[in-house]
Amino acid sequence: MQIFKQIAEIKNYLRTEQRNGKSIGFVPTMGYLHEGHLSLIRRSASENDITVVSIFVNPTQFGPGEDFEKYPRDLNRDIQLAQEAGAHVIFTPDTVTIYPEGYKTYVEVQKITDTLCGASRPGHFRGVTTVVTKLFNIIHPDRAYFGQKDAQQGIVIRQMVRDLDMDLEIIVCPIVREADGLAMSSRNIYLNPEERKQAVVLFQSLTMAKDLIVQGEKNAYKIKAAIEKKISEKSLAKIDYVSIVDMETLRDIRQITNKTLIALAVRFGETRLIDNIIVEV
Ligand code: AMP
Repeated sequence: MQIFKQIAEIKNYLRTEQRNGKSIGFVPTMGYLHEGHLSLIRRSASENDITVVSIFVNPTQFGPGEDFEKYPRDLNRDIQLAQEAGAHVIFTPDTVTIYPEGYKTYVEVQKITDTLCGASRPGHFRGVTTVVTKLFNIIHPDRAYFGQKDAQQGIVIRQMVRDLDMDLEIIVCPIVREADGLAMSSRNIYLNPEERKQAVVLFQSLTMAKDLIVQGEKNAYKIKAAIEKKISEKSLAKIDYVSIVDMETLRDIRQITNKTLIALAVRFGETRLIDNIIVEV
């Protein structure tokens, strides 16, 4: 296992491997790894010669008052888990390494970053696309792996790769869930026992929506209202958004048609959780 903190060193190492014909898979993370991250690492390890995992809590994707400082961190545990899942290289730079004094350049995808999480977290996706561009430039992966958990992120990254002619394949992998259906997240650790119990309503409301659609309900407003009602029954839940959108434009739709994304964000106390499903009819 190779662990790098410096850009020049990891570049040097990976360029040598690439000259030797090795393919590179890349899994960007903010650390505090769980089975969701590990599923991406395993997938990458099965499809590439070398799997690189970055562990970097990226300050530019957090807004003022968000949880950048308290975001959970446990590097030694992450290194061990990543290695067991098949990672060969860890890149864990310091903030000043990625954003040295005088840093001035940002990458911004327009329109599809204004809705859903982009509406509640202004500047979030600008931080994501900026750091992901930098990481792609450092690592030069053949393939990069993202989770469907962050549905909008995957769509935004794909758009950026297409728009900027980046030479790599983006692979979006399924959401990994706890036994009761809660989508795994590093932030789940913030939940107190009662919040944790109630948080399963996110998955339950999405499952209910899917069932309604299967039974023939195609009116997006009605489905959205049913989801909101179910979530509101939980005393600790505060809805940030429930959106039923077109998978490509991320615009609200009235009728469920071919590829529809149902995405939601709900707060339990200080903790903001997201989840989604793709509905195919
Ligand atoms: P994060 O460390 O939260 O920035 O996540 C790093 C990557 O792991 C992102 O591409 C996420 O979408 C993905 N990820 C996070 N949670 C899950 C999950 N429960 N299932 C699948 N992928 C996930």
